[in-house]
Amino acid sequence: MSGSALRDGRNWIDGAASDALGGDWILSAAPGTGEPLARLARSGSSDVDRAVASARAAQVAWARVDPNEKGRLLWEIGNRILARAEALAALEAVDVGKPLANARLIDVPRTADTFFYFSGWATKLHGETIPVRGSFLHYTVKEPIGVVAAIIPWNFPLLLAARKIAPALATGNAVVLKPPEEASLSCLLLAEICSEAGLPPGLVNVVTGLGEEAGAALVAHTDVGKVAFTGGTDTGRLVMRNATAGLKRLQLELGGKSPNVVFADADLDQASTAAVSAAFYNQGELCTSGSRLLVERGVYHEVLARVVAGTERLRLGDPLDARTTLGPLISAPHRARVLDYIASGDAEGARRMTGGDPRDPGYFVTPTVFADVRPEMRIHQEEIFGPVLSVLPFDDAADAVRLANATEFGLAAGIWTRDIGRAHTVAGQIRAGTVWINTYNRFDAASPYGGIGASGFGRENGRAVLDELTTTKTVWVALS
Ligand code: NDP
Repeated sequence: MSGSALRDGRNWIDGAASDALGGDWILSAAPGTGEPLARLARSGSSDVDRAVASARAAQVAWARVDPNEKGRLLWEIGNRILARAEALAALEAVDVGKPLANARLIDVPRTADTFFYFSGWATKLHGETIPVRGSFLHYTVKEPIGVVAAIIPWNFPLLLAARKIAPALATGNAVVLKPPEEASLSCLLLAEICSEAGLPPGLVNVVTGLGEEAGAALVAHTDVGKVAFTGGTDTGRLVMRNATAGLKRLQLELGGKSPNVVFADADLDQASTAAVSAAFYNQGELCTSGSRLLVERGVYHEVLARVVAGTERLRLGDPLDARTTLGPLISAPHRARVLDYIASGDAEGARRMTGGDPRDPGYFVTPTVFADVRPEMRIHQEEIFGPVLSVLPFDDAADAVRLANATEFGLAAGIWTRDIGRAHTVAGQIRAGTVWINTYNRFDAASPYGGIGASGFGRENGRAVLDELTTTKTVWVALS
C-alpha cells in the first residue's frame, strides 16, 4: 500500500474529528503485510485537556438525561453497530490481523450486544432505603463518577472499547478513550457511530497516540475520576502508581497465563479440540488464552497427540481470506518477543512438538506446542500473548491445582472432567476470576469478568461493573 493510500485516524473530540494540536502523527501497520496502514494523530497533554474538558461539560448534562432516553440511545448505538458490521469487521481484520470470519462472528456482534445489554441497565440503577437507629428516612442514591479514562490494548480494540463505554454511559458518565497505537481505526469508527446514533458530543472522545504520552496524560489528569485500564501487568503497575496522586478510582484488567486442566475421565475429543482453540484463538493474543495445558498423566500422550494434530490443522494466512483460522501477530517487535520465548523454551529443554517458525511477509508465527514443560520454565510462567502452548502432565487433582496456581496470574481457568463433584471442588480451589467447566473462552456482557493477583482487580460486564462506575450517596432526613 502506498503512502497516499494511508487512512487518517484523527482524534474524535466533542463530536468531531480533529488533528492533534501539535500536528504530529504516528504510523500503524497492517500485520498481514507489514505495510503502513494508517497515520494516527499523536496526541499530547493539550489534546487530552481538550477531550477531558469536553467530556466533563457533556457529562454534567448527561447525568440529568432521563434514564429511558439514555437506554434508548445505547440501544440505537447497538443497532448502528450491526448496520455497519461489515465495515467494522473488515477494519478489525486488517488493523489487528485477526481472521475476518472471527471479527464477523465475535468482535462485532459482541460489541453490539454490550450496548444492548447495558441499555437495559440505564433504567435500573437505584439505591436503597435502609432502616437506621432514630427517627430518620435514610436512603442511598447511585451517582456517576464523572469522566472515565478508558485505556485499551490492541487485541480486541472494538469490543474492549465497548466494554468500557457502554456501562460508563449507562451509569451517567462520559468517556475519554485512548485506543492502542497499533490498531485504533475501529475505535474511531465506533465513536463516529455513537455520534450518528444521536449521542451528545463530548460523551465519547477518542485521543489516539502513544501510551506514554496521551495515555499517561489521561491517567494524570485531575478531572478524570476513574481509570479503567486493560493491558499488560507491567503497564498496569505503572498506571496504578500514576493514578495514586489524584486518588482516582481504578480498575485493572491485566495479563494472564491461564491453566486448562484435562482429567482422564473427560471427553478427550471435546477437551483436545477445545484446548487447541483455547490456546490459539486470536493467534493466542488473548488475555484468557489457555496457554498452559495440564493433562492427567494416564491420558497425557493421547491428549498431546490430538492437540498437536489439531494445531497442525490450523490454517495460517491472510486475515481477509475466509479459509484462514490463524492470522499474523500484531507487530514486528511483538513477533520478536514471541520468537524469543520459543527460543527460551528450546534452550530450557522443553520438547517442541510443532510450529515456532516465523513466516513472511507480515508478522506470522506458526502455532507452537511444547511438551514436557517444567513449571519453572519461562514459557510456563510468563505471559507470551502469542501462539505458544505449554503441555504438562499432572498426577491427581491436588497436583493439578498446585500446578494451576503456580504463577502470579489469576485471570481464567478451564476444567475438563465428567465428575461433577471434582469439577466444582477444583473450580473452588483454582485462583482465577473465571473458571470454565467443560467449555472454554465463554464471555457474555452479562457475565462479570476480571482477574486476581497479577491479572488485576475490578470487574467488567454484568451488574458488577455498575458499582465500579458509580458512587453511593447517603441521604439522612430527620422525620421529627
Ligand atoms: P500494554 O500494557 O502495552 O498497553 C495497553 C494500553 O496502555 C495501550 O493503549 C498503551 O498505549 C497504553 N499505555 C502504555 N503505557 C502507558 C502509560 N504509561 N500510561 C497509560 N497508558 C499506557 O498492553 P498491550 O497493548 O501490549 O496488550 C497486551 C496486554 O494486554 C497483555 O498483557 C494482555 O494480557 C492484556 N490484556 C488483558 C485483558 C484483560 O481483560 N485482562 C484483555 C486483553 C489484553 P500504546 O498503544 O501506545 O502502547
